[in-house]
Order: sequence, then structure tokens, then C-alpha cells
Amino acid sequence: MHCLAENKKVVVVGIPGVGKTTLINKIVELIKDHNKSVHVTNFGTVMFEVAKENGIHDRDELRKLSISDQKNLQKIAAEKLSKIDDDVVIIDTHAFIRTPEGLNPGLPYHILQIIEPTHLIIVTAKTEEIYNRRMKDETRNRDKASVATIKKELDIQSAMMSTCAVLSGSPLRTIQNNEGKLEEAANQIIESIGL
Ligand code: ATP
Ligand code: AMP
Ligand code: MG
Repeated sequence: MHCLAENKKVVVVGIPGVGKTTLINKIVELIKDHNKSVHVTNFGTVMFEVAKENGIHDRDELRKLSISDQKNLQKIAAEKLSKIDDDVVIIDTHAFIRTPEGLNPGLPYHILQIIEPTHLIIVTAKTEEIYNRRMKDETRNRDKASVATIKKELDIQSAMMSTCAVLSGSPLRTIQNNEGKLEEAANQIIESIGL
């Protein structure tokens, strides 16, 4: 069967510190010679660019804003991202955000309808690895969490992403980003989205 080339919108989620941004940078490095226009975008960066106009100075302050402010920024970011029309768009984001008002879904139904993902990817790693990455990375102000809390976050993420797969009708794949195995994880993603 001959198929028309389909644009791909790949939504990559993972709990803070699992290595999404590092992994996506590695993907870009590995595919630079492929003849495809790939656009990588970070959902939080798009929210942050808008929030900066309103006096926010650190991307890690976004999750402390009121839920209604976060939801406004979330919708604006999704609408901006939906206008990118490269062959492949990779979106670096979260299944949920831990906020003072509770766990806010990163991909509620109305946001999925705006983004229209074709592929959903969960990046995960061993709980201890995630714990250590959060502790070691001084470039960010991540919330401190115990290994037990990280385990719970992984379970919640899995439930939320199963729901996203059903609502969007898009396939869901989980990729292990284990210590020292960045390139392996990047190649698995490249293969699974047919780059
Ligand atoms: P956030 O959701 O907070 O943006 P993230 O998932 O994008 O987090 P990164 O900032 O990419 O996480 O990575 C967190 C830390 O983990 C970084 O210091 C990075 O170098 C390290 N790291 C990522 N992947 C690996 C790996 N496979 N092996 C070892 N260290 C890694
Ligand atoms: P990140 O650099 O991926 O940690 O993103 C920075 C911040 O952006 C996160 O801590 C959240 O506050 C926000 N963010 C990212 N993706 C989403 C999303 N899908 N929905 C709501 N907020 C998000
Ligand atoms: Mg990141």
C-alpha cells in the first residue's frame, strides 16, 4: 500500500530529571544527516517565554503560579506548538506537573485536541537514577523528592499517559534512559518514529 508521507508530532514526557531534554538533544545530534526537517520544541520554554513578559524569571517558578495562570500559559503554548509544520515535531513536556494545588495534567483532553500528537513517548529510568540526577543537576531548581515519591510519580505518569493514548488514539511507547545508555535510548526513539 502506498501512503502519503505523514507529518509526525511526537510528544515526549517524563518526570523531572529523567533526562528528556538531554535525550532529545542526542536525537538531534544523531539525525543531523537525515534528510528530514525535524523541529524540537520544549513546551515549558514556550510557556516561559510568554510568562517572562509578566515578570517570571525562572522556568521552575511556572509550576508555583496559580492553576488558572498555568492553564492559560499551557493553552497559549499548545496553540503556538500546533502551528509548527515541519515533517517531524518533537515536543519535550510532562504528563503532569506537581503544583501546590495538586498534580496538574500536562496533556488534558483539550490540549491533546490542539496538539494532535501522532506518537506518545514516556522516558523513564530506574528510580534511584532519577533521584541521583535530580540531586546532581545544579542547573535547575527541581523539587526534592524521595525514591518512594519518584516511584509513585512513575505510576501516576503511566496511568495518565495510558489515558492520553486512548483519548488521542496515538501509540504509546516507553523508553528506558538508563545510566550511560543515552545513545541507546535515542536510537530506540529514532527507530520507533521512523526517522
Ligand atoms: P526536566 O523535566 O526537569 O526538564 P529532564 O527530563 O529534561 O528534566 P535533563 O535535564 O535532560 O532532564 O537531565 C537531568 C540530568 O540527568 C542532567 O544532569 C543530565 O546530564 C542527566 N542525564 C540524562 N540522561 C542521562 C543518562 N542516560 N545517563 C546519565 N545521566 C543522564
Ligand atoms: P521543563 O523544562 O520541561 O521542566 O518545563 C518547565 C516547566 O514548564 C515545568 O516545570 C512546568 O511548570 C511547565 N510545563 C512544561 N510542560 C507543561 C505542560 N504540558 N503543561 C503545563 N505546564 C508545563
Ligand atoms: Mg528538560
